[in-house]
Amino acid sequence: TVPQGVVYQDAHGQITSANQAAQRILGLTMDQLQGRSSVDPHWEAVREDGSPFPGPEHPAMQALRTGQPVKDVVMGISVPGRDRTWLMVTATPIFKQGRLAQVYASFEDITQRIRLGNELQRQATTDDLTGVANRRSLMGRLASEFERVQRHPHLTCCVLALDLDLFKGVNDTWGHAAGDAVLLHAARLMGRATRQHDLVGRTGGEEFTIVLPDTSADEACALADRLRHSIAVTPLPHAGVGISITVSIGVSLIAPGDTGIDAVLARADRALYQAKAQGRNQVRRLDPQSRTITRTLIG
Ligand code: GH3
Ligand code: MG
Ligand code: MG
Repeated sequence: TVPQGVVYQDAHGQITSANQAAQRILGLTMDQLQGRSSVDPHWEAVREDGSPFPGPEHPAMQALRTGQPVKDVVMGISVPGRDRTWLMVTATPIFKQGRLAQVYASFEDITQRIRLGNELQRQATTDDLTGVANRRSLMGRLASEFERVQRHPHLTCCVLALDLDLFKGVNDTWGHAAGDAVLLHAARLMGRATRQHDLVGRTGGEEFTIVLPDTSADEACALADRLRHSIAVTPLPHAGVGISITVSIGVSLIAPGDTGIDAVLARADRALYQAKAQGRNQVRRLDPQSRTITRTLIG
């Protein structure tokens, strides 16, 4: 009846016995567990960050290898018929007459705790309306990419400042709820135009920022223009018609020697301001050294 799962493994790591709680948590009967070991690929074990957790590094195997106890290790495993189960594992080696004879692994099912933590983390970092990163999380990522470029000046990273054009008119014509739907629609198009390691964030009402790591200014302008075009030609279907919008985009490259992310954002904003001033639905780029703003319109 104890909530803690307890499993004994022999000196080779094979399971020799397991209590009721262990069988319930692992979703396997004693017959199924018998002889299984930590290195069995069926566990599909992962670390807390989702990366693979190689069998030989599991707490029980480590304890067997080193003769030292291994405490409070978080491990995700695959359990038949369930979503991933999270365990907090402690492994203690047991010696008989001075020789390492077996290992005693005790674990607790912390799946609920991990899920709640992940959900809180998600809520704290995403924008409710659009599902993209919120301002704080975008700025955090920008700061870490900025540090990376300062440390490794051969790396390139660009920032896009985006502002939907004449958005007030969308609200005035179609209502605020439709305006919200357009924001979500635009955010989805931004997600589609970017790569997995880019980050799209909503940094203001109808303002977005995109961080593009490992991207040259030319590549960033090309991506920005593809995105600009896709937004311009993809109206949001609404009440039997389509709501069309456009976006203006400022592009800036993080330069080694920039004083901080504010300098980079200010450049992107100046370029964005130019795109607005010169007719909207355009991409403009402001390079670190230059005072001139480049027109990058492709389409
Ligand atoms: P510009 O091309 O110069 O950017 O014109 P604009 O109308 O987009 O600029 P302005 O900054 O005057 O207006 C932004 C509008 O965005 C005003 C505000 O009502 C609207 N807005 C801001 N946040 C939200 C939101 O969360 N939902 C909706 N529906 N509208 C929003
Ligand atoms: Mg604005
Ligand atoms: Mg606007």
